[in-house]
Amino acid sequence: MAKTKEYQLDDVTVVWEPSLCIHSKKCVHGLPKVFKPTEKPWVQTENTTTEALKETIDTCPSGALRYYVK
Ligand code: SF4
Repeated sequence: MAKTKEYQLDDVTVVWEPSLCIHSKKCVHGLPKVFKPTEKPWVQTENTTTEALKETIDTCPSGALRYYVK
């Protein structure tokens, strides 16, 4: 199974699968306060709302970023 990491914001769980990332940076440009490739953790969900988070993740072209709602 591919390696994934998860990040939580309220009832939204963000799933990050690095091997799928094609580095289009849609996430970084969409929500620069959340997706910070040079920091750890690089996904800082506390800096946004669930709606904005979901909208930006929907723009990820590769499926490397996805989410599910509890
Ligand atoms: S939008 Fe998706 S493919 Fe593009 S850099 Fe972010 S995670 Fe990678």
